Amino acid sequence: MLSRRSRGISIGVNLNPDKVCNFDCIYCQVDRRSEAETRFVELDQVLEELAHIVDLVVTGQLFEDDKFKSVPRELRRLNDIAFSGDGEPTTYKNFDEIISRVAQFKRARGLDDVKMVLITNATMFHRPPVVRGLAILDKNNGEVWAKLDAGTEPYYKLVDRTVIPFQRVLDNILSASKLRPLVLQSLFMRVNGDPPSAEEITAYIKRINDVLAGGGKLKLVQVYTVARPPAESFVTSLTDAEVDAIAARVRAETGVPAECYYGG
Ligand code: SF4
Repeated sequence: MLSRRSRGISIGVNLNPDKVCNFDCIYCQVDRRSEAETRFVELDQVLEELAHIVDLVVTGQLFEDDKFKSVPRELRRLNDIAFSGDGEPTTYKNFDEIISRVAQFKRARGLDDVKMVLITNATMFHRPPVVRGLAILDKNNGEVWAKLDAGTEPYYKLVDRTVIPFQRVLDNILSASKLRPLVLQSLFMRVNGDPPSAEEITAYIKRINDVLAGGGKLKLVQVYTVARPPAESFVTSLTDAEVDAIAARVRAETGVPAECYYGG
């Protein structure tokens, strides 16, 4: 797919075809009302499909397809292979194995410039296969995009709807960011018409500063809002100005660069 956050072609590897997630975000775009087509990740098949799509992109064949014809020339580049999916990718039990196989594939193809991006909710960083997988990413032009959607536990529970304690996410972000600079991805929205309060954003910024004060490194904060119809109809986009205002506070009050991605 063409990714607005990657500025190029991002090939997604779906590690959760069963659509199971340990979060139930009110803004999620995965349609869980329809049955999953497949339940298991077949490693060999994933690699085969990945090789096929990479070929389509690097030969330019992809851009002959109607769906991709309008992609501007400067974006016709393979930017990354992204591990995401219809759930949380790090819950996949052979996480380190798939990361390792894709890294091998990338090396074998001489695609060192192509990033490996993990899009994650940061709930599983403490698990051994995930620790190993992240270490493999570090050696293979990897980047970790960790979700942080709130500053307080109640707001986190409201938007991410999970039994996993907020502190688990915060501790994981801190420990992972001590080993490599992380990208934070923060989605803010209107819930029943209300944007996050100024106090919530103040608390969120404090969480970012806590990571920095604890010795963590952050390379970027992506501030974004819903761009496509989400799971719940009471969720709507922030205005561009509201997204800009949050990103401006992040820059001014933490010193970390922030990028904005607006609603549809
Ligand atoms: S973590 Fe991602 S996949 Fe899981 S519910 Fe939230 S948005 Fe959906």
